[in-house]
Amino acid sequence: MNKKFVIAIDGPAASGKSTTAKQLAIKLKYIYIDTGAMYRACGLCTLLQNISLDDEVALKKMLDKISIKIEYAEKGNRIFLNGENVSERIREADITKLSSQIAVIGMVRRKMVELQRKMGEDGGVIMDGRDIGTIVFPNADFKFFMLADVETRALRRWEEMKNNRKNITLEEIKEELIWRDRNDTTRKISPLLQAEDAIPINNSEMTIKEQVEMIYSVIERG
Ligand code: C5P
Repeated sequence: MNKKFVIAIDGPAASGKSTTAKQLAIKLKYIYIDTGAMYRACGLCTLLQNISLDDEVALKKMLDKISIKIEYAEKGNRIFLNGENVSERIREADITKLSSQIAVIGMVRRKMVELQRKMGEDGGVIMDGRDIGTIVFPNADFKFFMLADVETRALRRWEEMKNNRKNITLEEIKEELIWRDRNDTTRKISPLLQAEDAIPINNSEMTIKEQVEMIYSVIERG
């Protein structure tokens, strides 16, 4: 496998995209780009600069100057917003909601897509998100679409979060996922959608290892 492929992994929230993509990136020695983290950083930026999502002028100014960098590390990527490490802050509940709200705005998406295309232009990348196979890299070498039922996704997210968010219940996580799925699939611009040529992977009954192996074998076969 000498060619440096572009691999797109899309799917709804908590469908196992990022865990799978991270492990696959290590196996392939590729760069992993978590595009959700970029929308999260953008949302956080509006909060820090006190910008209302309706204020197009202020938003444009913010986007013209924004710097989002991903530092690659085996233990997990670190995200820097305008030079500040925001890796932990962007995972908090207020930013999760804000990221989905800001992701409906055309100028925000245009800016993020521009940055993502630049990050992936040399290949050797695994990018996960909602619109990678449809909009960001419609000619990606491989496209996968991860799916899992909402109960499974909520349980996985709860397991991940219960140490940090002591007061959150499984039911609240499930409601948040349903809200985000609806927001992400019904927006007018670049909704969450399976590309026609993407391979669907329903992983409700699969382990991470099995998902990684399945995708790896597809890539290996070319
Ligand atoms: O993947 P993650 O849950 O971190 O994404 C946060 C939010 O960013 C999503 O709910 C979605 O609204 C938005 N997003 C997007 N397009 C992407 C990646 C994320 O609209 N490619």
